[in-house]
Amino acid sequence: VIEALAVRIDADRLRARHEAMSAIGATGRGGIDRQALTEAEIEARALVIDWARSRGYALSSDPIGNLFIRRPGRERNAAPVLAGSHLDSQPNGGNFDGVYGVLAGLEVLEALDDGAVETDRPIEVVIWTNEEGARFQPTTMGSAVYVGALSLQQALSARGKDGMTVSEALDFMRRKLPSCAPRALATPLHAYVEAHIEQGPILESARRKIGVVLGIQGLRQYAITVEGTEAHAGTTPRLRRRDAFVAARRIAAELDRVATDAQDIARLTIGRFDVSPGTTNTIPGKVAMTVDLRHPDQDELDRLDRAIHEICRKQAEPCSASVETLLASRGVSFAGCVIEAVREEAARLGHGALDIMSGATHDAAFLTRLCPSGMIFVPCRDGISHNEAEFTSLDDMIAGAEVLAGVVRRLSHIKAELAA
Ligand SMILES: [Zn+2]
Repeated sequence: VIEALAVRIDADRLRARHEAMSAIGATGRGGIDRQALTEAEIEARALVIDWARSRGYALSSDPIGNLFIRRPGRERNAAPVLAGSHLDSQPNGGNFDGVYGVLAGLEVLEALDDGAVETDRPIEVVIWTNEEGARFQPTTMGSAVYVGALSLQQALSARGKDGMTVSEALDFMRRKLPSCAPRALATPLHAYVEAHIEQGPILESARRKIGVVLGIQGLRQYAITVEGTEAHAGTTPRLRRRDAFVAARRIAAELDRVATDAQDIARLTIGRFDVSPGTTNTIPGKVAMTVDLRHPDQDELDRLDRAIHEICRKQAEPCSASVETLLASRGVSFAGCVIEAVREEAARLGHGALDIMSGATHDAAFLTRLCPSGMIFVPCRDGISHNEAEFTSLDDMIAGAEVLAGVVRRLSHIKAELAA
């Protein structure tokens, strides 16, 4: 515990670095446009590399451009504890999403050095390539390739709207950045911890500084098409009508009912509802709607999935409904040892904490396939993110970095392999 107190986050340094990063790719409206592997993101990486080199940290980069900054441990060859996040943004992105986790990680390395604190294992900070998926698809590309969930070849050949492939964009970046030691994909890690803004309103409303992230909720998206028969609105009696809107309305009401739970956990959104042909005097022959369904519990997500299919079958009568699954991603549970470490460090530091599920996906989701992983959330004002108005106070940024420092130190002192 005495050793733990020696790690002091330098608030001025963290603020100055955050301000410097906010200037790179600034839109002039308070946010940033720093899409993956653009000049702006490369400039941001160059600045982080400068800071890392000035402290003597070793740098390495893998074939998909993920960048690793390493502070050695007593056991030089032990698998490292990894922290980090991403520097790329949405086209109208904020100054906190991603960049906060990288800066908090770097701050932890430097604070350990300032306090002359040694760790058993090396501690590394990572900048993942193309987390946002705004320029190149898919999202969380760098972490997906790193853990082997996406093939390197597939990622390298992804082409952005500007016509450039990831492979070409990586070459462009490598010409601009100082050379880094090559690093293989999927090198062993002891644990992964990502600090990130919540991107939702829960911590702020509960007046807590730290989110103990239990996992990332699963997501499914559907396209539902209800087909009836177009007919004259004035001449067709009720029993002869096959009104697609009436059937779709019934389906929507049932979906709403089945996804309404007492604890307010399930999230079901009908984001699109197109009625055709859309004239005042024709009975609608077709409705096209989308459903976005999220739940942290995979069994519950499966149950709701079956319910959606059944509702569409039963409620469509006398019309018919088809359900197409557009996207299905399983929920993720973070490792108990990381969750416990976050909870205990927040308590030790006196930062009010709350257990929370992540509504959005993150690189940490893929890292769970490689090593025990977890996340630390800090609040963001009004829950706003992917928006230039995104804001987290310096106080909260410091609290998150303090917890991160405690967590990586704690995990770095565990000798054996952690249990997921
Ligand atoms: Zn992010």
